[in-house]
Amino acid sequence: MIAVLPAASVQYELSFPNAVHHEAQVRVTFTGVTQPVLEVVMSSSSPGRYAIHEFAKNVYNFKAMDGDGRALEVSRPNISGWNVKLGKGSSGTVTVEYTVFGDRTDGTYAGIDETHAHLNMPAVLVWAHGFEHARVKLEFHVPAGSQWTPATQLLPNADGTWSAPGLEWLMDSPIELSAQTVREWRVGGETFRMALHHQGTDAEADAYAEMCKKVVLEEGAIFGGFPKYDDGTYTFLLDYLPYDSGDGMEHRDSTVITGPVVLKNSASRAISAVSHEFFHCWNVKRIRPKSLEPFDFEHADMSGELWFAEGFTNYYGVLALERAGLMPFEEFTRDMGSAVNAVTTHPGREIFSAVEMSEHAPFVDAATSIDPTNTQNTFISYYTYGQALAFGIDLAIRARFPGKSLDDWMRAMWREHGDIEEPYTMTDLQQSLAETVGDKAFAEELFTKHIIGKEPLAYARLIEPAGLSLQLAHPGKSWLGVQRLDASAKGVQLGSAALRGSPVYQAGLEKGDEIVACDGKDVKSVDQLEACLGRQSLGDKVKLKAMTRGGEKEVELTLWQDPRVEVVTDEHLGKEVTAKVKEFREAWLATKVTGASGSAN
Ligand SMILES: [Zn+2]
Repeated sequence: MIAVLPAASVQYELSFPNAVHHEAQVRVTFTGVTQPVLEVVMSSSSPGRYAIHEFAKNVYNFKAMDGDGRALEVSRPNISGWNVKLGKGSSGTVTVEYTVFGDRTDGTYAGIDETHAHLNMPAVLVWAHGFEHARVKLEFHVPAGSQWTPATQLLPNADGTWSAPGLEWLMDSPIELSAQTVREWRVGGETFRMALHHQGTDAEADAYAEMCKKVVLEEGAIFGGFPKYDDGTYTFLLDYLPYDSGDGMEHRDSTVITGPVVLKNSASRAISAVSHEFFHCWNVKRIRPKSLEPFDFEHADMSGELWFAEGFTNYYGVLALERAGLMPFEEFTRDMGSAVNAVTTHPGREIFSAVEMSEHAPFVDAATSIDPTNTQNTFISYYTYGQALAFGIDLAIRARFPGKSLDDWMRAMWREHGDIEEPYTMTDLQQSLAETVGDKAFAEELFTKHIIGKEPLAYARLIEPAGLSLQLAHPGKSWLGVQRLDASAKGVQLGSAALRGSPVYQAGLEKGDEIVACDGKDVKSVDQLEACLGRQSLGDKVKLKAMTRGGEKEVELTLWQDPRVEVVTDEHLGKEVTAKVKEFREAWLATKVTGASGSAN
């Protein structure tokens, strides 16, 4: 027999009586509790952010009551949980109350102050085991006289409250409560809303909304239309305040983008986050890797596909700006060049593949630790790695399969896996590429060698048809193999790790060691050291004296050419831009939006 209890539901009430000190008061009522002990949980991870965050650290004043307001016994099973013991003859209702602190406005945490409540739900709301699929209702009580209005992808109810169909949706639905500027437009049957909290003018907001519109159209054109947003609306939650942390986080029907942005000065830089995050409403939120489904809010979530989910999004974020006329071509090539430089010259490429870099995300994506890591020698961001892959693969497809491009592969993934009910695996990705280009061997070689394997793509050859060249970024400049040199008490200190295989690495010098003499002369400043090195030719041996953990060392090292590379245009090299190159670039970089402005309602 199952006791007849009201259907399971969860109701949240939030208020901000102490916003100035960054606190919110939360009251949660669980109805239809059938367990003798209700396991209440604060999340340890947040969708789209891969490191563990013990959000429970900011929760206090926790108490629990039954439906009649009688206190219930609470015990702590672990650092993120509260076990609430139900009394005899319980009506199945449990209410918990707590205070939560939040003073970081970004895409993961909570920022509560006099100007707003910027809430990412995993950092704010507890939930309970057994209630993952229960219907959720939320009510926000804004401070009296605050003029705060809500912007969120939560579903609105007629009475001013909000709904979410379950936990996963709830945790994916941030809310911004503030005196914000809202602009709305319709395209392709969907409503787009820009909710902007900033210190600038309405005219700046209008101009920025126009830039957002261009991005929306350009990315819609890649997929041939928009997703069906759940409430028919997609919201850009933009928070640009001097005390914000720079961040962007994708959600199903919205994105949170934050930072100390002043639109008057830096709209053209800020729009790149809009372009990146909006692409995610397809790639990662709907075209979803199976490894992230369902998302586990209590542990770190590992995915080997972030080179695609994040890296390809990075590529398209930049490409869409270029196509929409929001980024100069020189800047576009510089951006691609820096990604190519990273994957071809970083020592980490010999340690992890693109898949393994992706799996490393929980250790690097907003992860903090007090013990140092060796990432300078082991890790290339999957954003960068994936961007470089997308860039090279797009050009490879365009050259080898005329009329086809990476856009076709993205559209195929959208057709075949554009629903979280149909998440994809690595096998699906490879198969989809093979079918798109009609060449199984091409896809197999690409995945085996360059995605699962660690071999960089042949960029110098791949970029040629686009009228681009790969060249040394600092020809003739010598290179020791550290990213930072600092002046120190005794001489010049290695300010960062010795890069594996580099001259200082081979000489047995490491971060913290101080170079005190070069070529027999004392060295007292970075300039003096560089002048000494500059007098030698590449390939020369140079003697250095250093103070190290192991005592004074005399080493001899061979000066290398600075290995960094860049991508440059034919124009930059003073070469003639041929008709063939122009045609190639046109197909690749011209707007894909048909029908002029296309912003009809
Ligand atoms: Zn992203």
